[in-house]
Amino acid sequence: MAGFNTTAIHAIDPRDNEYRAIVPPVHMASTFGQPTEGGEGPFEYSRGGNPTRSKLEESLAKIEGAKHASAYATGMGASAAAMGILKSGETLLMGMPVYGGNYRFGTIELPKRGVTTRFVADMAELSDEDFDETVKMVFLETPTNPTLRVSDIERIAELAHRNGALLVVDNTFMTPYLQRPLELGADITVQSATKYLGGHGDLLAGVAATNSDELADELFKSQLINGNIMAPTEAYRLLQNVKTLGIRMDRQQQNALKVMDFLKGHDGVAEVIYAGSANEREREIQQRQAQGLGALFSFKLAPGANTKAFLDSLEVFTFAVSLGGIESLICLPATMTQGAYSEEHLKEFGVDTDLIRVAVGIEDVEDLIADLDKALSAAF
Ligand SMILES: *Cc1c(COP(=O)(O)O)cnc(C)c1O
Repeated sequence: MAGFNTTAIHAIDPRDNEYRAIVPPVHMASTFGQPTEGGEGPFEYSRGGNPTRSKLEESLAKIEGAKHASAYATGMGASAAAMGILKSGETLLMGMPVYGGNYRFGTIELPKRGVTTRFVADMAELSDEDFDETVKMVFLETPTNPTLRVSDIERIAELAHRNGALLVVDNTFMTPYLQRPLELGADITVQSATKYLGGHGDLLAGVAATNSDELADELFKSQLINGNIMAPTEAYRLLQNVKTLGIRMDRQQQNALKVMDFLKGHDGVAEVIYAGSANEREREIQQRQAQGLGALFSFKLAPGANTKAFLDSLEVFTFAVSLGGIESLICLPATMTQGAYSEEHLKEFGVDTDLIRVAVGIEDVEDLIADLDKALSAAF
C-alpha cells in the first residue's frame, strides 16, 4: 500500500475524468437529468449526492483507510450526523471535556430527542458498571480539548462493544495522519475538517468515516434529511487542501515541540500541558496509539501574570478560536471554545479559567518563540 502522502495526493485518478485533468472538475449542478424509463441516474439532486462531493468523500475515505466517508458543511454537521443515530430512550456516554459544540449537542439537542447524555469525567475509570441496556454510544475526543487528556481507544472500543454500544471518536486534533481510531476498534470517526484537513483558515467542513455499511447508510442519509451538506466549491477546495496534510502536520508538530520546550524553560510559565503530560499511563497510551503529540497544547502563566498584557503583545499569534491552520492561534478555552459550559462543568472537567491554548502553525519557529518571549516579558 502506498504511503500517506502518496495516497492523499493520488486518491482521485485523473484517468477517471474525460480530459485526464489532474484535479477533478467542480460540478455546480443542483439537479441531474434522469432516465425516463424509470430508476435513478448516478446522481439525482445535489443535497443527496454531488459528483464533486463524492470525489472528496472517496479521497477522505482513502486517507482514513475507511470503507466510507461522508462530508458535511461543518465539523458539527459530522458530529450531529453521528450522534443523530441515537433514538429516543437511548443514552450517550460522553467522555469529558469535549469541544463546546459537541457539549451543546449533548446538552441541548439530544434531550429534545429523548436521548440522555451522561458525562464521564475520566475515561480511564470507564467500566462495565457505567453501561446499562439504554447506553448505545460512547463519544470521546482524544486528546481532549483543551486539557489534552488521553483515552485508550482500543480499551474503550472493547468495553463499548461488549456492552452493545458504538464508539465514536472525534479525531480532529490528531487527524488520520497521526491517529487511526477505526483501526483501533472505533465504529465511526468524526472530524472538523475546518481544522487540520482544510488547514488554511478559509473553509468550514466536516467528515465522518466508518467501515460499516449500515452506519454509512445512516450517515449519508443525514445529508439528505438534514441538508447540512458541503457546497461543491468547498468540496473541491478541501480535496486540494488535504493533499498537503502530511507535510503541514509534520511542520506544525515540529514547531509545537520547539515552542513547548521554550515555554517549559521559561520562569513566566507555570505549567505546559500536552497529550500524555497528565500521567505515565496516558503518555504510554499516546505513544502506542498515535504518531506523535500533534500541534496543539495548553499552558498556564506563572502566578502574578497579566494575561491581557501577554495576549496584547503577541504579533505573530492571533487571539482567536480554531486550530489546525498554517497560522498560529492562541485562545482562552474557558470563555471561548468551552464558552457553552456551565461554571460547574468547567470546574468539574478541569477547564481552568487561566488555561491558555496554543495551536501552532507552520511559520518559522524562531519567530513564534520570539513573539512569545516578548509577550512573556510584557506579562510580568
Ligand atoms: C472545531 C471542532 C469541532 C466543530 O467543527 P466546526 O467545523 O467548527 O463545526 C468539533 N470537534 C472539535 C474537536 C473541534 O475542534
